Amino acid sequence: MIRTIGIIGSGQMGTGIAHVTSLSGHTVRLMDTSPESLSRAMQALEKNLDRQVSKGKITELEKDEALARISTGTEMSTLADCDLVIEAATENEDIKRGIFKDLVPHLKADALVATNTSSISITRLAACTDRPHKFIGMHFMNPVPVMQLVEIIRGIATDEETYQAIRELTFKLGKTPAVSEDFPAFIVNRVLQPMINEAVYTLYEGVGSVEAIDTAMKLGANHPMGPLELADFIGLDTCLSVMQVLYEGLADSKYRPCPLLVKYVEAGWLGRKVGRGFYDYSGDTPRPTR
Ligand code: NAD
Repeated sequence: MIRTIGIIGSGQMGTGIAHVTSLSGHTVRLMDTSPESLSRAMQALEKNLDRQVSKGKITELEKDEALARISTGTEMSTLADCDLVIEAATENEDIKRGIFKDLVPHLKADALVATNTSSISITRLAACTDRPHKFIGMHFMNPVPVMQLVEIIRGIATDEETYQAIRELTFKLGKTPAVSEDFPAFIVNRVLQPMINEAVYTLYEGVGSVEAIDTAMKLGANHPMGPLELADFIGLDTCLSVMQVLYEGLADSKYRPCPLLVKYVEAGWLGRKVGRGFYDYSGDTPRPTR
């Protein structure tokens, strides 16, 4: 029975996962090495829950109870009593490997471990732990409280019991699962990120401006957001990292990351989370930067 859930990484995704797991009645331990990120996460959580109260989706009491179920910490020992730990730290394999190595000595013997990675091999990450059979991919979409899907990815060693427990939890969170095999970037990002990368090439080659590309895809393909707006929303570092995993993992030049995407990431223009990417978010309405 999963009652207490640990979350590693309190960025955009960790904050959203804390939101839905706590609202569904779980005790939540949110861990990040950055105290600033933890305090930003708690502020965002409160704001997002307030918004749900004002829309009549939850009551003030449900909000207060959800917030009271969440505690935070900067040490792995914060996660010692968790039945499940979901890793949602930066999309970088070395960082994630380090996290799992540090986490294992603190885990309960029967605790499950999940990763929210967008692209990295579940089998390879599982092998950094002492429990590949209790390790699984649980890939939430951004923004977590709004998006319906959770991709579930079994590593080669993941046992049936772990898979069923995570499937059941997904339903309990009010989400719908889709099962993907453990191949680079799974289903959603295998399809989505090459489209975003192609949109950046379209900008790089001068085929269209930021505004033209996003308008074209919104009105021409009926996408709710343009691809560049979406890239800013996801985070350009995450987009680049997923393309690198596809490029290296599938050894096919069609996944080559666009040099302009690389340049934006090198400049620290990572999108909405830092206030600048393909759009500038410093004013009231986002302004295209090209
Ligand atoms: P983010 O940059 O908003 O947050 C990452 C957090 O990880 C930061 O708070 C950082 O302090 C923390 N962190 C870094 N190293 C750490 C460590 N060693 N221990 C603990 N915390 C550490 O990133 P994000 O967008 O929340 O993405 C997190 C994960 O979720 C990535 O694996 C990403 O691929 C995945 N994901 C992202 C999206 C998206 O749209 N952004 C969607 C689905 C999945």
